[in-house]
Amino acid sequence: MLIKEFKTQFFSQLKGLYPQTEIQSFFNIIVEFKLKLTRIDVALQPNFEISENDLTFLNNALTELSKSTPIQYILGETEFLDLVFKTNNNVLIPRPETEELVQSIIDDHKDSGEIKILDIGTGSGCIAISLAKNLPNAKVYALDISKEALKMAKQNAILNNTSVEFIETDILNLEKLPDNFDIIVSNPPYVREVEKEQMEKNVLDNEPHIALFVTNENPLLFYNKIGDLAKKHLTSKGTLYFEINQYLGKETAELISNKGLKNVQLKKDIFGEDRMLKATVI
Ligand code: GLN
Repeated sequence: MLIKEFKTQFFSQLKGLYPQTEIQSFFNIIVEFKLKLTRIDVALQPNFEISENDLTFLNNALTELSKSTPIQYILGETEFLDLVFKTNNNVLIPRPETEELVQSIIDDHKDSGEIKILDIGTGSGCIAISLAKNLPNAKVYALDISKEALKMAKQNAILNNTSVEFIETDILNLEKLPDNFDIIVSNPPYVREVEKEQMEKNVLDNEPHIALFVTNENPLLFYNKIGDLAKKHLTSKGTLYFEINQYLGKETAELISNKGLKNVQLKKDIFGEDRMLKATVI
């Protein structure tokens, strides 16, 4: 099949399911990923012949897109802070707001000496691994309850040439942490059941609910538990960083202040939503 024919088929099959600009962007991403052809290459070589093998992949991608499967799962990878991370439906797709959280930690600590970092609920490992990459003097630990997520995170650590110590554990049942840390960071589940209705279908249908949802009654349970552990296990110069639910900024800040942590600060993400919280020991 010629690329111009595939393009026509691609656009007509996805028409109405996504905005036109998103269809164009999916087409560019998938064609570049599999055929190594840029948008310009495609425009200049409309008669490029797609091999049987490549066509099988492209057709499968098109079928998956028409079922609302996220493109990051179709390709099996995505980018996060200029690093490539493998993804599958056992881990949340790394989000741009989480990149902002990690960038702020890097900015705060780029001149630090040897520090210890713990990432709680690591998922794909994107937070722990990008910190290990950008803060080469740091010793990074990461934990998660999910075996399958840890499998992916370990692969991602190797892929990105970093050394991260992964631990399988349920944070909610942990009495104490294995060590003291200079940085504790977490992007725990924080979406309340009531917010499900506002979520995109492709998130709801594909991403792991265990990484996303909390009950309406006790939405801050992870922040409460991690706040307690941070109070006990942060070093005196230590800092706690959270990604948070945009609707619960005030409540989360209050909860963390009440633990006795200091300088509790909320920060907005690129979309103008309360998304990050930072607190220190002294
Ligand atoms: N920001 C994610 C979303 O809205 C949620 C991440 C999380 O629950 N930690 O899909």
